[in-house]
This record gives sequence, structure tokens and C-alpha cells, in this order.
Amino acid sequence: LQNRLQQAQKMEAIGNLAGGIAHDFNNILFPIIGMSEMMMEDLPAGSLELEYANEINKAGHRAKELVSQILAFSRQSDQDKIPIRFQSILKEVLKLCRSTIPANITIAQKIERNCGVVRGNATQLHQIAMNLITNAYHAVQEKNGTILVALEEIKINLTNLTNTIINPGTYLMLTVSDDGTGMTKKLKNKIFEPYFTTKEEGKGTGLGLAVVYGIVKDYGGGIDVETEIGCGTTFRVYLPLIGESEDKENTETKTELETGH
Ligand code: ADP
Repeated sequence: LQNRLQQAQKMEAIGNLAGGIAHDFNNILFPIIGMSEMMMEDLPAGSLELEYANEINKAGHRAKELVSQILAFSRQSDQDKIPIRFQSILKEVLKLCRSTIPANITIAQKIERNCGVVRGNATQLHQIAMNLITNAYHAVQEKNGTILVALEEIKINLTNLTNTIINPGTYLMLTVSDDGTGMTKKLKNKIFEPYFTTKEEGKGTGLGLAVVYGIVKDYGGGIDVETEIGCGTTFRVYLPLIGESEDKENTETKTELETGH
């Protein structure tokens, strides 16, 4: 409990501080990224100057990513929530991931048709999926790995998830599974802490899972993590469904299975 309290306080402090400066910071980054890009277009290939401009640009992008994570973090609980279909957001995220993740990594998707509606915010739901898939990608990066993304409705009775306790009921379950590095028990216990990262300097912010955790908690959902070193990791996010959706088609529930790019 002490740990959770500390985490909540830490989150609030970071959120308050960050929300204030993140916006201004983005304005500063704008010319750094934009003008280094212009320089990259003009400078001769192979020159030292091009290399410098490239480094400036990369650093700018990393800073921008950090700012957007911090903003997400600070806006966690005051976002407007509406009844929303996670499945359409997930499809968008998958499309985006397929265009950025190299083709040697297979992204399989299994999205149940006619999944129910949750109460949420499109940007935040986007973040949940994006952060989990990005982590899965980083975990398999060294090899020709597979990432499985699934969405389905599920009735659950279990209440002892990894980091949260949820009420028995019907939930929308997002599964993001990878056959990457896996985690030790010790590592698994730390992953939701803000600023905890094992990624090399500049690659990770350590905020991805803290953001996911914060959003999911705010929605009254839960997260479960199963992992084994050398075998891979499965994240399951449970979001409470808000009853039957009006436009649910009168067809049998079918599952779409798509693989690859
Ligand atoms: P970041 O990705 O910026 O490091 P996160 O909060 O998203 O921050 O993740 C924290 C840490 O959790 C990662 O640095 C990594 O060590 C571990 N992690 C998260 N997802 C996975 C995964 N799918 N497989 C192995 N390790 C993971």
C-alpha cells in the first residue's frame, strides 16, 4: 500500500509540473526539428555537418516523444470520456504499427467483431494500444518475432490481476503478446513505476506503462502481465463494458484473423 501511495503521489507531482511546461517545450522543439530537417535536405551526403544535423533531428524527435508521454501522463484523469468502440481505434493503431514496424516482425491480429462499447477517450485508448505494441516490438526487436494483438469480450471472475483488483463482470480484453525477451519477476514488479526503464538512454521514457496503468485504473479496469524470460510476455488489459451497444449487428460474433503486413 505504501508503495501504491508513493506511486500515486509521484504521478501527481510529475503530472502537475509537467503539464505546465510540456506545451512551451513543444514550441521550442518545433524549430529544432524543422530546421534540422531543412539542413539535412541541403547538406552533402557523407558530410560531418549532415551527421550533426541528423543527430540534432533525432534528439529533437526523442524530446518530442518524451513531451507527448509527459502530457499524456498529466492529462490522465481529466480527459472527456464517451461511449466508444475500442475495435476501430485498435485497427487504426495496427495500421500505423504495420507501416512503422519492420516486416520481419509478424503482427497477427484477432479482433472479435461486434465488440461492445467502453467509456473512454480515443486518444487514451490509442495510447494504451500503442504503448503495449511498441513495447512488444522492442522486446522482439533482435529477432524475427511475432506480436499477437487480440480484442474480445470476456466474462471474468478472477480478481487478482498483477497490479489491480477488478470486480467480476463482463470486460473488453485487449491482449498484446510477444515472443520476445520476457522479464524476470523483479523487473515485472517495477514496470508500472513512472520513469522506470531498462532501455538505453534516449530510447525509453519509462512512462509508457505508467500511462497505460493510470488510464486503465481511471476507467475502472485492470491489467494482467504474464511473462517468462526467453519466451515472451503477454499483457492483458481489461476495460469495463458499458452494456449492449445500440448498433450491435444482429449477426453471429465472428472473429477476424489477419496476419502479417
Ligand atoms: P519504456 O518503454 O519507455 O522503457 P515502459 O513504462 O513502457 O517504458 O516500460 C518499462 C519497462 O518495462 C521497459 O523498459 C522494459 O524493461 C519492460 N517491458 C515493458 N514491456 C515489455 C515487454 N513486452 N517485454 C519485455 N519487457 C517489457
